[in-house]
Amino acid sequence: MVLRDAHNRIIRDLRLSLTDRCNFRCFYCLPNGEPPLARKETILTFEEITEICEIFVQLGIEKIRLTGGEPLLRKDVEVLVEKLAKLKALRITNYELRGDGNPNSKFQIPKLVDLALTTNGFSLKERAKDLKNAGLDRVTISLDSLKRENFRKITGVDKLGEVLQAIKAAQRANLNPIKINAVIVRGYNDNEIVDFAKFARENDLSFRFIEFMPLDAGHEWRREMVVPGKEIRAKINQVFPLKLKKNSRGSETAWKYEFADGGCGEIGIIAPVTEMFCGACSRIRLTADGQIRTCLFSTAEHNLRDVLRSGARRAEVVEFIKVVVLKKEARHHINDAEFVQPQRTMSFIGG
Ligand code: SAM
Ligand code: SF4
Repeated sequence: MVLRDAHNRIIRDLRLSLTDRCNFRCFYCLPNGEPPLARKETILTFEEITEICEIFVQLGIEKIRLTGGEPLLRKDVEVLVEKLAKLKALRITNYELRGDGNPNSKFQIPKLVDLALTTNGFSLKERAKDLKNAGLDRVTISLDSLKRENFRKITGVDKLGEVLQAIKAAQRANLNPIKINAVIVRGYNDNEIVDFAKFARENDLSFRFIEFMPLDAGHEWRREMVVPGKEIRAKINQVFPLKLKKNSRGSETAWKYEFADGGCGEIGIIAPVTEMFCGACSRIRLTADGQIRTCLFSTAEHNLRDVLRSGARRAEVVEFIKVVVLKKEARHHINDAEFVQPQRTMSFIGG
């Protein structure tokens, strides 16, 4: 069984926001640290999240990413990870795959293949090992500057040292492949692009350069602040020639490159503004308070929490999800004159 939208895209990737709270104040996301939008009783419990994820995995979701806000602010995330990791025991048989095989076939593959978490890294150093032991496959860590003062200016906190240590701890805990995210903003960190590429080579990391999207709570986004993916690529290429990786993109957001000289590490360029990739989107999002969002830029939300809490039968929950998926937008409209920034910001939606 798969979730297919009205534009014939199959949904394989679930992004789960665990909280809209954060202890960083990234100017491109949550500059003033708005009080949480969702009240405690509206936030999904670990039991509810696990139940929803089990249904999604039965419906063909292969990847689950825990995000936020800062997901590690949610108490006992390791307990949730342990519950979700158990979903990897759900198997798909070749009978299900082809529909004409032997139902008793021994050939089985997991339905859920990837359980990941995106974090600002502030407390990962202490928790990396426990998260791995609980069943987390890998982490993505945000790192917007390699210079202490610039890091503080962008994120509002003086935590560069902690984040660098978190990267090392994640490597030691084998939370691989580790990805590093940097949102590149004109006038803030575009002068560090080559340094980031060097950092990726020296530390054998997958470094992803992300275009600034109009999802910031401070409404500071301006088109001139977006550093186009092409410019990022050219800057790196001048110093460290890049080679497009085989099978780059697919339903993934990033163009992936290796270093032409065979150096360690990988470069990913995520250019949702200047090189829209909506046609291959396989993602769906669930906010911390249980609202399904079919696109980062959706202006509507679908209240799965209330359906679940109303005591709906499983078949009804499945039907609700299927109908919502059919409403997934064909594309975003950032580049259209009539574009309206969604009310919910990245910290709430879950990046
Ligand atoms: N707090 C965690 C973190 O920072 O990694 C997870 C949540 S954060 C919303 C997820 C990712 O979204 C981060 O890598 C962040 O840099 C990115 N992000 C936030 N606001 C963004 C924006 N306006 N444009 C592009 N990316 C953004
Ligand atoms: Fe917090 Fe992540 Fe948003 Fe920065 S990007 S404010 S760390 S949620």
